[in-house]
Amino acid sequence: MNAIRNEQARVWLVGAGPGDPELLTVRAARLIAQAEVLLVDDLVDRRVLELASPEARVLAVGKRGGCVSTSQRFIHTLMIREARAGHRVVRLKGGDPFVFGRGGEEVDALRAEGIEVEVVPGITAGIAAPAAVGIPVTDRRCAPGVAFVTGHTQDGGAGADWSALAASRLTLVVYMGVAHAAAIAQALVEGGRAPDTPAAAISAAHTPQQRQVRATLATLASALAAHGVKSPAILVIGEVAALGADTLAAVAAGAPTPTLAAPARGVA
Ligand code: SAH
Repeated sequence: MNAIRNEQARVWLVGAGPGDPELLTVRAARLIAQAEVLLVDDLVDRRVLELASPEARVLAVGKRGGCVSTSQRFIHTLMIREARAGHRVVRLKGGDPFVFGRGGEEVDALRAEGIEVEVVPGITAGIAAPAAVGIPVTDRRCAPGVAFVTGHTQDGGAGADWSALAASRLTLVVYMGVAHAAAIAQALVEGGRAPDTPAAAISAAHTPQQRQVRATLATLASALAAHGVKSPAILVIGEVAALGADTLAAVAAGAPTPTLAAPARGVA
């Protein structure tokens, strides 16, 4: 039973990470287990929800592009109502709540109603997906930094400035980019990136459905189509996208996967 009451109307905005529950923060796992009401995006892995109490109410409020989805306004109303009713409300989002997650809008809506919000960061897909296939996004031998960019331009929203990004030497990590990969690659080449710049796509990272495709800017879109890569996927563009492939090939060929030994208790 969750005996703790939510006396002062508060919502916990929690990052659920990319998939595997082992990648949750300790705080996220604890809050999920203690929640009375969970409002969950559809990118949140089912295995994460197994940590919730059997008595908790789990409400799916997904917003996947092109699917029937709950309006943002309704999600705000629901959070406000449940928090005011004194319930421990956890708003659970894939990855990190503040990285392409509308977390900022939700914080504003809740605070405007006098509801406290605590944000618990999560591991964002833009970090987790490249890492899953051995790509170090800021390897200093290749890139001075990394830019997280959306590949999805909403009506009226500001799209990325691809020619400026092309001119930078930054690794580009593109969220929501699968459907627009051809246009993105073309814009980057027109902006001056070499057509043979390495590119990679990682879909459903840290889930049993994880897949990766390695290509170049010139071949990215056709490689995605040929391999049937679907959302959710992260695109990585830049020299770093050629790294890590050997490690993964070794694992695929049956190299033993290292397991973590339980740490010895006490201080050595
Ligand atoms: N807040 C989330 C991002 C939400 S936007 C985060 O921080 O990760 C949704 C996009 O995130 C997807 O279209 C995809 O580009 C990416 N994404 C989320 N989970 C992913 C996963 N497990 N593997 C690959 N990409 C993922």
